[in-house]
Amino acid sequence: MPDSLDVRRSRAVGVLADPAAALALLSGEHAPRPSKRAELVLTLTDGNLSGDPVARNATTGRAVIEQAVREWCGRTDTHLTVLPVLDLAGHDATDAYRPKGATVRRADLVAQRCVFPHCTRAATSGDHDHVVPYDHDDPASGGPSCDCNIAPLCRHHHQLKTHAGWGYSVLDTGLWLWSDPHGQQFLCDRVGTTDVTPARPCRQRE
Ligand SMILES: [Zn+2]
Ligand SMILES: [Zn+2]
Repeated sequence: MPDSLDVRRSRAVGVLADPAAALALLSGEHAPRPSKRAELVLTLTDGNLSGDPVARNATTGRAVIEQAVREWCGRTDTHLTVLPVLDLAGHDATDAYRPKGATVRRADLVAQRCVFPHCTRAATSGDHDHVVPYDHDDPASGGPSCDCNIAPLCRHHHQLKTHAGWGYSVLDTGLWLWSDPHGQQFLCDRVGTTDVTPARPCRQRE
């Protein structure tokens, strides 16, 4: 069956956006093998309906508009992996130390960045921490490898959490409360960090 008009149209747009493929087509040669790789996560929110970005390039961590997605689908120089639609409210669990792939992807999409106070490193570039530590000797009594207990931390902040007295807890999906070794507290979400250290009562004057 011939491809639909839409498919042929997006392929044509892709060729136009890809000079190497256009040249190969004109000279009757095969298009070069893809030299780039990208993973694309398609998400749709009510905001997208009014023209906001509709997809997120999981490789670069940047949002892409619908038109760019169409162009990419026809390119031959990029190996594009379109991942299954992911329900961000979903939940996966495993007894193993390593969380499931869907859990990791959801954690990255929800947080977008390392969840440590003020850190802006991309979630996808770091580790995936068990907020409540996993118990290797008795997994049933430690922190589970599931969506409620996995958060992205860059390597540096993962070390601070493990060795330097920082601790945090999950208040809600996408909302973490941190405390530092001196009792300061920070509320973190994908937008930023708020210092929520309780005010200490003034010392009484003598
Ligand atoms: Zn859970
Ligand atoms: Zn960090």
